[in-house]
Amino acid sequence: MKQALKYEGKGKALYSTETAGELIQVFKDDATAFDGKKHDVIAGKGELNCAISSFFFEKLHEADIKTHYVRRESSTEMRIKELNMMPVEVVVRNVAAGSICKRLGLKEGITLAQPLTELFYKDDALGDPMINTEHCELFGWAKADDVRAMRQLARDINNTMSELLASVGIRLIDFKLEFGLLNGEIVLGDEITPDGCRLWDAETSRKLDKDVFRRDLGGLSEVYHEVATRLGITI
Ligand code: C5P
Repeated sequence: MKQALKYEGKGKALYSTETAGELIQVFKDDATAFDGKKHDVIAGKGELNCAISSFFFEKLHEADIKTHYVRRESSTEMRIKELNMMPVEVVVRNVAAGSICKRLGLKEGITLAQPLTELFYKDDALGDPMINTEHCELFGWAKADDVRAMRQLARDINNTMSELLASVGIRLIDFKLEFGLLNGEIVLGDEITPDGCRLWDAETSRKLDKDVFRRDLGGLSEVYHEVATRLGITI
């Protein structure tokens, strides 16, 4: 059962529960982009994201990847283990898109020879700047061993997710993960939804993710619904 509100972000809220060390993560209907400068409320988005995220966390569990997921609590709520979160975002890229194209002058859609992992410091006011392992160590955001573990887990997660999505004709272009410590061990936290992934139809390259909202390409809930349906998730 939800108790005190512990944190509220752009797309999610976290509540304490009757069980110490367990939280309820609520998926909201809010959609934001460009550091919150673009905002909308999209009916049903919270439910779709909760269903999709729960689906991926269950598949990762089956693949022996440790995550904070306990169970789906309701249509918009996920029960999770409380982690000591690291202020670092790990992005995995299989294909060039988004910020790497701007930063390095790459053409969108180029397949990378191998998956690339990048680290960003989680700070809205600074616009989440890109960092490396030395920054993590020097400023106490994560130990070098923990960064190594996050990168390895991110690659393993990429393999599981890419395979699952490929089986329903969707290419996993890139995605963002957040990790935390549970009893000293690195564990996947946060969410896995089309808000934090780029997903393209394998045949047409049609976008099936938050870029639809960022770039005004159509209805967001329709494409999220399509992702869920293709994965066999019933809403
Ligand atoms: O913007 P960029 O190209 O670096 O994003 C890479 C991936 O990480 C995209 O799938 C994007 O949706 C996700 N991301 C995110 N939250 C951020 C930054 C990026 O979910 N703060």
